[in-house]
Amino acid sequence: KLENATLKAELGRATWKFMHTMVARFPEEPSKEERKTLETFIYLFSRLYPCGDCARHFRGLLSKYPPQTSSRNAAAGWLCFVHNQVNERLKKPIFDCNNIGDFYDCGCGDEDKKKGD
Ligand code: FAD
Repeated sequence: KLENATLKAELGRATWKFMHTMVARFPEEPSKEERKTLETFIYLFSRLYPCGDCARHFRGLLSKYPPQTSSRNAAAGWLCFVHNQVNERLKKPIFDCNNIGDFYDCGCGDEDKKKGD
């Protein structure tokens, strides 16, 4: 089957949105287990991402820049940085990681503060 750049880009946008939104909700002070969960997720993601070339490049980035999981800030800053590495390779604009603050809002409110959650 032919490569379809439109679909590839669409998948990329959706994936980045999900990943940035996920780390924006990562605990500010994660437990050991939460840190391991994020790290494991990222490595499994890099094996399963459906664009094989993208996944292979991303695995190269992971070996150079291992996932940072010590805090929400560390994780969000790391993901912003590696996304910028991809942007650079694809000759896309570099995102100012200082402006990541409230850019990724899951829209889920304060549900994690609800009782029994
Ligand atoms: P995207 O890069 O998809 O970004 C979407 C939006 O996120 C931007 O409009 C901006 O608002 C914001 N953003 C941009 N940079 C950052 C940042 N650093 N931090 C936070 N937010 C940011 N495509 C290929 O052709 N070849 C590849 O090898 C390739 N590898 C990829 C690897 C991964 C892991 C992923 C998830 C995607 C990959 N893609 C690849 C897709 C590519 O990165 C883009 O998603 C796609 O080209 C669409 O680009 P876009 O211009 O819409 O912006």
